[in-house]
Amino acid sequence: MHPISKAIRTRIEQTNEMEHSSPMFLTSSFSFDNAEEMRAAFADETDDNIYSRFSNPTVKEFTDRVCALEGAEAGYATSSGMSAVFASFMALMKSGDHLIACNAIFGSTHTVITKYLSRYGIDFTYVSADSPEEWEAAIRPETKMIFLETPTNPGLDIVDLEFAGKLAKKHKLILNVDNCFATPVNQRPIDFGADIVVHSATKWIDGQGRVLGGVIVGRKDLIQDIYMFCRSTGPALSPFNAWVLSKSIETLDVRMERHAQNALKLASSLEKHEKISGLKYPFLPSHPQYETAIKQMKNGGGIVCFELKGGLESGKKFLNALEMLTLTANLGDTRSIASHPASTTHAKLSEEERKAVKITPGLIRISVGLEHVDDVLADILQALDKC
Ligand SMILES: *Cc1c(COP(=O)(O)O)cnc(C)c1O
Repeated sequence: MHPISKAIRTRIEQTNEMEHSSPMFLTSSFSFDNAEEMRAAFADETDDNIYSRFSNPTVKEFTDRVCALEGAEAGYATSSGMSAVFASFMALMKSGDHLIACNAIFGSTHTVITKYLSRYGIDFTYVSADSPEEWEAAIRPETKMIFLETPTNPGLDIVDLEFAGKLAKKHKLILNVDNCFATPVNQRPIDFGADIVVHSATKWIDGQGRVLGGVIVGRKDLIQDIYMFCRSTGPALSPFNAWVLSKSIETLDVRMERHAQNALKLASSLEKHEKISGLKYPFLPSHPQYETAIKQMKNGGGIVCFELKGGLESGKKFLNALEMLTLTANLGDTRSIASHPASTTHAKLSEEERKAVKITPGLIRISVGLEHVDDVLADILQALDKC
């Protein structure tokens, strides 16, 4: 064999030792020993990997780990949280179906529902997080799915999962929950009756601001439909990102415990600050849905939000005065992050539109990191002095 051919054809020798850290299957496809094996794989007679758009061992390791945490039967990992959300809609609904969604949801999810689903004949009704009557009243004969997020981004509303689970069951609807903010170590929607759970793994699951990723887990029959949709349309997670995220799962529980401990301390210390109003943290008794939060969550999570009494101008001054906290669009990092939706992510909306999605002019969202909480607090206090 020509040396060039040999160099290309040489593979890692198989050894009897297993790597303690999983190897990464950074490959686009998988080869077969003979035509019969390949035929059988394509005929779904075996579980053999064929092509990484369909399945990949490294990606499967990550998906299996999320399934274990969520108590789910099956899963499929995607390239981002939004591709997970989108696939969960497109694979399970068709033209003529109706979707009920909580009105406090992630901005891009709002856009997908409002702007794109409607183009394909999927109608929707938005309902308020804290108004069960609205949910019941929104149900129609053609309603297919209920979609919600809890806690919500960025307003930290809590939706009662037990209520949503019972409502979905009663009317035979698919309950689809975005569990990004709580993470599966803190809250398991399936235990309350959710049929599928979607995640942006980009946030707390990665936890270190390195990669984009998403995952959908839940009932086997529904995941099979999602898998067939994704297999044909291509939002697969890269094996490299899956490897990173899979390692992250190993530390998720301890990380989230500390994020929540820091966030609770920060929230309690800032709650009565003279320049702040309406501070929200799910595990503070002052949170409007505190009772629901403690019923369904293990801890309050890592996000704190509050309103600056000085409004829009104070929001900008606050961000500019921060010395340690980072100004970035992400959340769920080891490093604390501050954001001011009214002047950034939601700046293109009119004041009225912002109001409708509960973005007030002075709203600040803090993603509390793993630094010593005294340093996070000190930075916020000195910034508050300047606005
Ligand atoms: C960020 C986020 C998403 C979207 O995830 P990406 O990985 O950025 O695509 C969806 N839902 C929630 C609640 C989020 O915070």
